[in-house]
Parts: sequence; structure tokens; C-alpha cells
Amino acid sequence: MGIVQSCHDQPLHRNDQRMKYRAYGRTGWEISALSFGCMRLGDDAQYNEKLIGTAIDAGVNYFETTRYYINGQCQHRTAPGLRGRADTVIVSGKDGIGPDKTAHQFRKEIERQLDILGLSHFKFFQVGWFRWEMMPHLLKPGGVLDALRQAQAEGLVKCIGFTGHDTPENFVKCIETGLFDSITIPYNLLARQYEPTIARAGELGVGVVAMCPVAGGVLACESDALKEALGMDMPTAAMALRFVLANPHVSTACSGMNTLEQLEQNVATVGQFAPDENAFAEMCEGLDRLRTALGERFCTACRYCMPCPQNIDIPHYMNLYREWQAFGLADSAAARAAQVPPEKSAANCRDCGVCEEKCPNQLEVRRIIRSVHELQRR
Ligand code: SF4
Ligand code: SF4
Repeated sequence: MGIVQSCHDQPLHRNDQRMKYRAYGRTGWEISALSFGCMRLGDDAQYNEKLIGTAIDAGVNYFETTRYYINGQCQHRTAPGLRGRADTVIVSGKDGIGPDKTAHQFRKEIERQLDILGLSHFKFFQVGWFRWEMMPHLLKPGGVLDALRQAQAEGLVKCIGFTGHDTPENFVKCIETGLFDSITIPYNLLARQYEPTIARAGELGVGVVAMCPVAGGVLACESDALKEALGMDMPTAAMALRFVLANPHVSTACSGMNTLEQLEQNVATVGQFAPDENAFAEMCEGLDRLRTALGERFCTACRYCMPCPQNIDIPHYMNLYREWQAFGLADSAAARAAQVPPEKSAANCRDCGVCEEKCPNQLEVRRIIRSVHELQRR
């Protein structure tokens, strides 16, 4: 069980006029419904300082960082905006683990990230890029958990979280260990596979940080189909943020922002949104209706069709097809199809049919990937 009581030692900054707040799992903290992913900050130091400061003014009180983002520059770019106010917000740091990672190495990394950020301690430190199969590396004597427990005992780290892209079932097992106070996972209206994990986290009092709430920009495109399904008439990115926050078990939507305009739009969207208890179920119903546009059989991203002898990333094309056909995001799907490297392009399909033989959903893979490839020429 993570150290919980000692987390609740200082109230966090808030601005109730502009921001909504939610319980951050069992930590005792109230976290801003919009949080700031610092992985997309640009190289203008003055602008970054203003951006971070403006976010804090607006009531944002969670900032996700690691030394590994932006070629090692993420925390350097974040630090000036936090100056003098870091004690009133949560700044998370993050390090990865592996079979050879020692407690000493992990401890050094915690200290290094604190030093760059100019912090005395981390309210949250995350085990990054985590998967269930890495649990032995975390738990081994002289391993990462020993480093984290020692750092907690010394007050260098208050709470422990993890982040990654394992299966929903494996992440349920991770949170059921009781070792973690938060989980950070991708979640948006196009990627809902972690909903069972999020629900379990809610039951266990584990905070949930939803990353990629607007799907890395995919949900910046207009979609009449989504407006109808969600019963809202607003830009897709705003609907996407609202969907994530309608889920009562999500603690915060963590958006990777790099402009004041994005920040102001997101603050306005979140600050005005107070979902009633039926909102989430109604939005899910609308999205499920859209998915029926794909028929009884649709791609479940199982990847049994891989590898393709022509090196085509079939699940990626199937995903674009879903966004196009079910969610009406044709322009976005066309743009992303155009970005597929030539060596992985559906244009290389040799019609061998191996993928269709392996597909448990009996999908017409060849027709579908060709149609997505052709979409970019429309
Ligand atoms: S039919 Fe095309 S996409 Fe399917 S396995 Fe063969 S080459 Fe790959
Ligand atoms: S095997 Fe079928 S369902 Fe599975 S990822 Fe490939 S296309 Fe999708």
C-alpha cells in the first residue's frame, strides 16, 4: 500500500472560479480536472514560463514531466514556470525500469530530476513504461521499489504511480497489488479499452490520470457523427475532453499543451463542465451506436493478422478505417494514412490473403486497408 496519509500534508493551489477539482484517488488531494502534460513544450523559454504560470493561475495543479521527454529538455523547459509555486502543485517525475535497474540507479534518477526541476521533493514519482511482466524488476531486493520506499521514508517522494501501455487485464493486476497510488493511461473516446481498468481503479481508490484525451490531435477534426452521438454541438476536442471527464473514475485529463490558446480553450471546456450522473452512460451509448456502423464484425486490435509478409501495419490501417467509418473523421484518417512510411504502406499488399485467414473476425482486411490507402487521394 502506498504512503497515503503523509501525502495529505499541504493544500494544493486552486482557482474555483475557472477550474473543477476531483479527488485524486485515496491521496487526499483534490486535483484539477485538467492537468498539464509537459512533453510538448516548445523551445521558447519565455513563452513556456508564461504558459506554465498561466496554467497555475487558471487553477491547473498537476504537471506531468520526465527527464526523458523532448530529448532531455522537458523538465528544463517546465522548471522556470514553476518557480516559487512548485510547493502548491503536484509535479510528477518518471523513470523506467528493467531487469538491470538497481535501487541506486533509480535513486540517482529521482535526485537528478528533482535537481533539474528545482524541487525539494516529488509529490508523485511514476514508474514509467511499466508492464505486469516487469513486476519482478520492481520487487526484487535492491530494486526499484526499495529505492522508492527509501525516498518516501526520507520525504523525497510522497506517492507512487505508474504509467504504460500493457493490457487492461494486466493493469488491473498491477493496481490490485496495492503498491500504487495512481495509474496514468491513454483514454479517449476513440480508445476506450482501459475502461474496466479505470473502473477498478475507482473501486480501489487509485487515482486515474487519463493521457491523450484528444488522441494526440486526431480529435481536433470536426465530426458531425460525434456531435450527434454525444448530443453536443462544439468542437471535437472539447467533446473529447468532456467525454473523458464524464467518466466518474477519471481523476484528471492530462493534455499535452504548448500554446496559450489551447490552454485557454481547455480551461474553458473543463471549467464549465459539471456532468450529471447519467452523462457518462449516455455518451457511451452514443459511441456504441456509432460503432454499429461498422457492422457486427469489427477489428478488435488483436493483431493476430501480424506480421504481414509485406510489413504492412494492418492494425493501424484498421484503426484509421474505424475512425473514418464510425466516427466520421475522414480528413484525419486520410492525413494519417498519408504519413505511413512507404515500406509499410498498404500499396505494397500482394493479395496473399494470409491476414484474412488469421483474422478471428473474418474481416475483409485487403479491401479495408486499400480503401484507407485510397482515402488520401480523394
Ligand atoms: S493480403 Fe496483403 S495485407 Fe494481408 S498479409 Fe498479404 S500482403 Fe499483407
Ligand atoms: S486479426 Fe483482424 S481483428 Fe485482429 S487486428 Fe487483424 S484485422 Fe483486426
